[in-house]
Amino acid sequence: MPLLGQTRDQLQQWAERRGLPRFRGRQIADWLYRRGVRTFAEMVDLPAPLREQLATDERVGRSAVDQRQQAADGTTKLLLLLADDRRIETVVLPYTDRVSVCISSQVGCPVGCVFCATATMGLLRNLTAAEMVDQVLTAREHSPGGKVSHVVVMGMGEPMLNYDALLRALRLITAELEISARRITVSTAGHVPGIRRLADEALPVTLALSLHAPNDELRSELIPMGRKWGVGEVMDAVRHYTRTTGRRVTLEYLLLGGVNDTPELARELAGLLRGEIGHVNLIPWNAADSLQPVRAPGKRSVRGFREVLEQQGVTVTERMERGREIDAACGQLVVKRAQPEAVS
Ligand code: SAH
Ligand code: SF4
Repeated sequence: MPLLGQTRDQLQQWAERRGLPRFRGRQIADWLYRRGVRTFAEMVDLPAPLREQLATDERVGRSAVDQRQQAADGTTKLLLLLADDRRIETVVLPYTDRVSVCISSQVGCPVGCVFCATATMGLLRNLTAAEMVDQVLTAREHSPGGKVSHVVVMGMGEPMLNYDALLRALRLITAELEISARRITVSTAGHVPGIRRLADEALPVTLALSLHAPNDELRSELIPMGRKWGVGEVMDAVRHYTRTTGRRVTLEYLLLGGVNDTPELARELAGLLRGEIGHVNLIPWNAADSLQPVRAPGKRSVRGFREVLEQQGVTVTERMERGREIDAACGQLVVKRAQPEAVS
């Protein structure tokens, strides 16, 4: 097990087991999380012989940056090389007032949504908590001011299918990287038990629900998970989340041309929300793979859809698309093959 991913307490216990004073664990936690170092050699307040010993016996657990691409708008996509040679993508999004990082929770994804590039990979494996925390630390290294203020779990994978590691990572990010739960968003395709469990963790992160259709027939065609947990059940779970945490849930609605972008569906969606969830984030589909059986919505249908929702009293935002030219936008993350180029 690498040292990254362990809590301060666990690192202190580890130090004791190694016959070291407990405070060595605390020092190492500071180096790992506060300073974000990649090697034991950099932990200069540890005695030199100990640093050398640790370098042979232990692993820090940071992954290497295999490739880095930057778009004109500053969006930076990082291809990270994991210890078992698998690769994942992480996206750094600098805005004027904050820097957000979009992290992956799995290598690939087993859910199989028809519109998503990650789905074409299938599930290769779950990420560990350390690998999720590592993405935030690495994003910090590639952020303009060396800081990351917001985390969105919206990269590759369905976070609720890797629940235990997700939760460990969220606790480390809030406790050790000092990013408050309010600045963290977890996006789910509608995994009901996961939403209910997360509601009860006393960790008030923002939940984003990928709804994408207001009825089961259409939704389960787009998101196979919709066959297991229907719209009614998902919306109940979301209401439970709001009641328990006091946090507003963000409803994501991906617009697919000619599929789910009609005014009738907008009315059905407004009815479903019944004034309880007052906010919908519309996401125009990003093309990722020419073989995908869907297309982007026209400007007119986006406007029409938006107007119907607004007439019904729903607040609508449109997701600002960033990094599309480097395939870093939502739903475009996919690792097709090993990519040998080194980071420049
Ligand atoms: N598995 C989780 C989180 C990762 S996907 C989920 O599905 O919510 C993050 C968001 O990107 C989801 O809302 C998803 O529906 C959306 N998305 C997937 N493919 C997309 C595409 N091609 N264009 C735009 N958004 C997409
Ligand atoms: Fe998985 Fe989310 Fe993509 Fe669906 S949209 S395949 S759940 S990553």
